Amino acid sequence: MTKEILLINPPLLDSRPNANFDYNTGLLKIGAFLKNQGCRVCFFDFLEGMYKYIGEDHPYKEPGRYVDKKRCGMGSKKIFKKRYHIGKPYSFFNTELKKIKKPDEIYVGSSLTFYWEGVHKVVEICKKLYPDIPVTIGGIYPTLAPEHAKRSKADNVIIGQFKGASDLPPAMELMKEREYKYAIIKTTRGCCNNCSYCAVPKVEGKIITHRPIGDVIAELQLRVSSGIRKIVFWESNILQDAKQYFEKLLDRIIELELDLSIQIPEGFDPRLIYPEIIRKLRLSGVSYIGLALESSDSNLQHRFHKKLKLSYFEKVVKLFKEEGYFCHKTMRYENDIWLFVLIGLPEQSLKSILLTLIDVWKLGCLPVVLPYTPIPGTEEYVNYRHLIKGRDLEELAPSLMPFANDELTVEDLEEIQNNFSKRHFTVKDIKNLPNNSRVTKVLKALI
Ligand code: SF4
Repeated sequence: MTKEILLINPPLLDSRPNANFDYNTGLLKIGAFLKNQGCRVCFFDFLEGMYKYIGEDHPYKEPGRYVDKKRCGMGSKKIFKKRYHIGKPYSFFNTELKKIKKPDEIYVGSSLTFYWEGVHKVVEICKKLYPDIPVTIGGIYPTLAPEHAKRSKADNVIIGQFKGASDLPPAMELMKEREYKYAIIKTTRGCCNNCSYCAVPKVEGKIITHRPIGDVIAELQLRVSSGIRKIVFWESNILQDAKQYFEKLLDRIIELELDLSIQIPEGFDPRLIYPEIIRKLRLSGVSYIGLALESSDSNLQHRFHKKLKLSYFEKVVKLFKEEGYFCHKTMRYENDIWLFVLIGLPEQSLKSILLTLIDVWKLGCLPVVLPYTPIPGTEEYVNYRHLIKGRDLEELAPSLMPFANDELTVEDLEEIQNNFSKRHFTVKDIKNLPNNSRVTKVLKALI
């Protein structure tokens, strides 16, 4: 008898009511695997209708509904942010669940650890309606916080990969509305580095594995045949072993003239860049370049175990510019060169952040400011557990600026994110900024 499977992508609680997200590729890969096993798969996606068209404005269909408020930072001034339920309502899910054929097994996906609440609620609803049906949860959240995930009362908690699913193309046909305009593809897993804030080695392992190039090309051709040319390579450290793998993949893309617009949002390690790979990134259609700086503060670089010198960036930015990438005044997702900048780390100072921004602007690049969140299982999480103690995972969401304090305040961090991210400033621009905040005063004093 054909097994009936129900896959569920849970809703999220977020302080941005109009936030949009990427679709859950991991869950759709499990869908592909189970379909290959002969199961009938039904997919309930709470986030259907809310996926982003990367780099484009899009009509947002259903803004989040207010749920509660959570405290931001740990300064003496108490600041709260509203949180919203992002996705279809639980009442709708309950009704739909009663309409479908009773499943034999239920799989609930997850994303980042601070979005755990939706996972628990979905498990609770499923167990209430079908107490005898096994419910399994998997994804990043249970992999990084397994004990916390077990509190959901799911029957099974998958830690790490769902065996057999990782290398399959996601079963996109399970997405009912077909609203996606891009395809997410993952070619590489694992990273041999040990950056103190990063969970990739824990989630994917320290040994690098690659999908066969032929499989990736077949998946690209499948997407192109359905009219999708915007491809997002969602990779952790794509240039590891680039000569043996990624360069060869780019060669095939160029040779086949697939005419893709490729985005690699996680960016590149500047130490692994070389002229030939830049040329091939350009020829294969990579639309913008992100480089992982995080901070130009040597103390932080040391703490991260990265030891990236600005001279690496100077060298590679020059090479990218020679190949036609450059810096617009604001982000255009076309030809830009971005440098990622982490803000709101424990013990990070305002001066350290602003000096990093100045360094990025001097390099002629756009800073992409990323508020920091401590990820369970990372070295930073362990080293700063005394600051985390007593707070649940959702209270560590980056939008709540969990480590803001009286020296580096929530207001400072929000001003930096709202006013300086994805924008280029010259010395003249900085001098012309109004003197109306601590951030601009310190910034002016530093130039
Ligand atoms: S930040 Fe990048 S280089 Fe560092 S461990 Fe994570 S994936 Fe590897």
